[in-house]
Amino acid sequence: MPLRDTAPKLSAEQYEENFAEIAPAMSERQASIEASRCLYCFNAPCTMACPTHIDVPAFIKKISTGNLRGSAREILTANILGHSCGRVCPTEVLCEGACVMHERGESPIEIGRLQRYAVEYVLSRDIQLFCPGTPNGKRVACIGSGPASLACAGELAKYGYEVTIYDRHELPGGLNTYGIAAYKVRAADSLREVDLVKQLGVQFCQKIEVGRDLGLADLEKQFDAIFIGVGLGETWALNLPGEELHGVYGAIEFIERTKADPFAQVEVGRRVACIGAGNTAIDVVTAARRLGAQTVYLIYRRGEPEMPAFKYEYQLAKQDSVIFLWQTQPMRILGERGVVTGLECVRTELGQSDRKGRRSPTPIVGTEFTVDVDMVVRAVGQKPTTDFLRTVKGVDINPDGTIKINEGHQTGHPKYFAGGDCANGGREVVDAVADGMAAARSVDRWLGSPRSVKR
Ligand SMILES: Cc1cc2nc3c(=O)[nH]c(=O)nc-3n(C[C@H](O)[C@H](O)[C@H](O)COP(=O)(O)OP(=O)(O)OC[C@H]3O[C@@H](n4cnc5c(N)ncnc54)[C@H](O)[C@@H]3O)c2cc1C
Ligand code: SF4
Repeated sequence: MPLRDTAPKLSAEQYEENFAEIAPAMSERQASIEASRCLYCFNAPCTMACPTHIDVPAFIKKISTGNLRGSAREILTANILGHSCGRVCPTEVLCEGACVMHERGESPIEIGRLQRYAVEYVLSRDIQLFCPGTPNGKRVACIGSGPASLACAGELAKYGYEVTIYDRHELPGGLNTYGIAAYKVRAADSLREVDLVKQLGVQFCQKIEVGRDLGLADLEKQFDAIFIGVGLGETWALNLPGEELHGVYGAIEFIERTKADPFAQVEVGRRVACIGAGNTAIDVVTAARRLGAQTVYLIYRRGEPEMPAFKYEYQLAKQDSVIFLWQTQPMRILGERGVVTGLECVRTELGQSDRKGRRSPTPIVGTEFTVDVDMVVRAVGQKPTTDFLRTVKGVDINPDGTIKINEGHQTGHPKYFAGGDCANGGREVVDAVADGMAAARSVDRWLGSPRSVKR
């Protein structure tokens, strides 16, 4: 069933221009100049601010001396997804936010772009920096092929483990492939990084949903340890009348199409409303505008100061001429003949702060109004996808649906470890990588750090 009205189709060139990288690759000259600005701090705050603790001064120093291979090795040893992290990390709140240049009133070193520059050198030349460890006779399964599992699998393969990844999607990479905005990272870029993990001998079994196509009991029989890196699931429902209408989408579902399908094939309304104000909502509204939607609203029941999205992301949406309806609560999705035609909203006033310090909104009677839209996207957080684990004795699920783990990322069932969004509740790629690496070290310790057995 078509939408009531769709955005006009653009030329292939226009789509490419709209989704062009927002932080383009550095040239050799740019990288050399930028690297030479670094002060190579001792106890570098950037390294401490990075969840994977990449030795930033060390890799930048190697760029400045022309040792790009060594620089990439420095990065990828700490973070095998160093290339995509260089593109997608919210650096302004992580490494670059901690850069001492701020204290001098200068712009921070562009760590993310330098990191990408160094790793690009080895990726584009197919230089293989790491090799699998000598087989140690132990087998580990990873459920999910997102950043958490990729990091865990890559690290374990280096120690000599035989690792198999199972993922329900057609392509590996998790949200790096299917979720993060196309102007930050394309699916093809994510898959190049997956190849680094494949080169370490990790086996990928795609289109297998554990819990449905493959039982956990089977995995337990076949593997010595199991890492759960299933991320989060679909977007929460709004529970509004009219949500069943055609033209109402979940944010993940909509964004996935912008990553998996050619831009011209992604149907988008001429007028779009996105409900929510986090980073995912920003990805929705910017994607809708770049696909050609003429009017895009971001609707949030609290005010601008309470907006959870990073400042930098908010700025992107402003540049894309998104209309922000603050202190506005959706009440009902309107439709005709089964398709979306509008969204009934009401203004809110903000009261006392809740436990998280956010002021709670109350609808103001008599301020109801309607926005004329052809498409509504929910971006109010992702549901956990951990129900299939409830049958495993010892794997406990927290009230918010995340998996309960100890400091070593081990669950109450010693064979199961977990990390990434499914355990931390949803953070960034670099956090998922850090979790995966930490879990790999824990798995290794728990299995007695076996090394090189003869087969
Ligand atoms: C729209 C969006 C934009 C984002 N933008 C950014 C950004 O700009 N920068 C940033 O750093 N972070 C961003 N993030 C966050 C980042 O993508 C996640 O933190 C990260 O991908 C988490 O990695 P993960 O491995 O835990 O999970 P995921 O990447 O979600 O991977 C989980 C994988 O598990 C698979 N799976 C799930 N259940 C099963 C099962 N039962 N059997 C088999 N496979 C299963 C899924 O198919 C998926 O491939 C964004 C997230 C979203 C939703
Ligand atoms: S991984 Fe991300 S946070 Fe860490 S140094 Fe690189 S860009 Fe910064």
